[in-house]
Amino acid sequence: MNSFLQGRVSVVVGDITRQATDALVNAANSTLLGGSGVDGAIHRAGGAQILEECRRLRDTRYPGGLPTGEAVITTGGRLPARYVIHTVGPIWEQHAGSEAELLAACYRNSLALAVEHGLASIAFPAISTGAYGYPPDKAAQVASEAIREFLTTESGGAEASAARDKLGEVRLIFFSPPSAEIFLRNHKFE
Ligand code: ADP
Repeated sequence: MNSFLQGRVSVVVGDITRQATDALVNAANSTLLGGSGVDGAIHRAGGAQILEECRRLRDTRYPGGLPTGEAVITTGGRLPARYVIHTVGPIWEQHAGSEAELLAACYRNSLALAVEHGLASIAFPAISTGAYGYPPDKAAQVASEAIREFLTTESGGAEASAARDKLGEVRLIFFSPPSAEIFLRNHKFE
């Protein structure tokens, strides 16, 4: 069983840069100027336009860098996805105990940006579980709880609820079968 919340969330093994969802999420760093892992792969596959928009965001809204847990949106450049949502995951054991709250904020803020832009589908990598060292079993619990809370909340009234309902597909992308299995053993979707 790789799908949850009435089929709205699915767990997939693959490459995030190949997902033809409306948006895909980048596990960025606060510089917004590229890095290794998912970040490097997205900029390589998406081309210069993504980096140009990231530079503009640095120069205007985030001269000190994008804070951990927050998210911004740019074009998808040459990617199959129309948009990239860049979020900065917490570095494991570097945030004095607020790692889980910050990781949840990455998922929540990325989903909120997708909804604000009227998007119907989004793909996430396993934020923070690579270079940033977040234990993947713990990350699975936090990510699934944050996604479930966001998708099932009834706050904000009928209009907000309709906008959220439009986001019908949340795809969670794992780079290898073992990492997907760890997620499937530890999630809290139900
Ligand atoms: P962070 O710095 O937030 O830890 P990383 O990019 O280092 O981000 O890794 C996040 C997760 O994404 C890791 O589990 C890594 O194995 C996985 N990953 C790396 N490249 C890709 C890719 N192209 N598609 C999907 N997942 C990837």
